[in-house]
Amino acid sequence: MDFFDRIGETITQVGNVAGQKAKDVSEFAKLTGELRSLEKKQQDLYIELGKKYFEEHGDSKEEAVEALKEIAADVEHLKDQIAGLKGGDPCPNCGAVVPKGSKFCNSCGAKMSIFEDDEEETTEEE
Ligand SMILES: [Zn+2]
Repeated sequence: MDFFDRIGETITQVGNVAGQKAKDVSEFAKLTGELRSLEKKQQDLYIELGKKYFEEHGDSKEEAVEALKEIAADVEHLKDQIAGLKGGDPCPNCGAVVPKGSKFCNSCGAKMSIFEDDEEETTEEE
């Protein structure tokens, strides 16, 4: 069953990352990368969960819901870990952790809210 295999894989991956003591910049980059891929998997699982619901209507749904809850908790944990590591802040728009001192999110380009008082900045929306 490919779907649940991948859930197990994801949880294992998170456990490995969370179990390591992150200490330097490369670790920060690594954690950020892990977080990105984890969030992508999370999105994929939400989509698959929706499909499952229609296809099977209840069969293995609870299992997928539980797995998603775990992943969501792990995603939050990773975000906290990354934020603490670099003193960074999560982007208010996309949730990516942006290193402290960044005025814009390096993921989506949104302006970081901690600099909102700096009104000299021109808000450049697309
Ligand atoms: Zn962002």
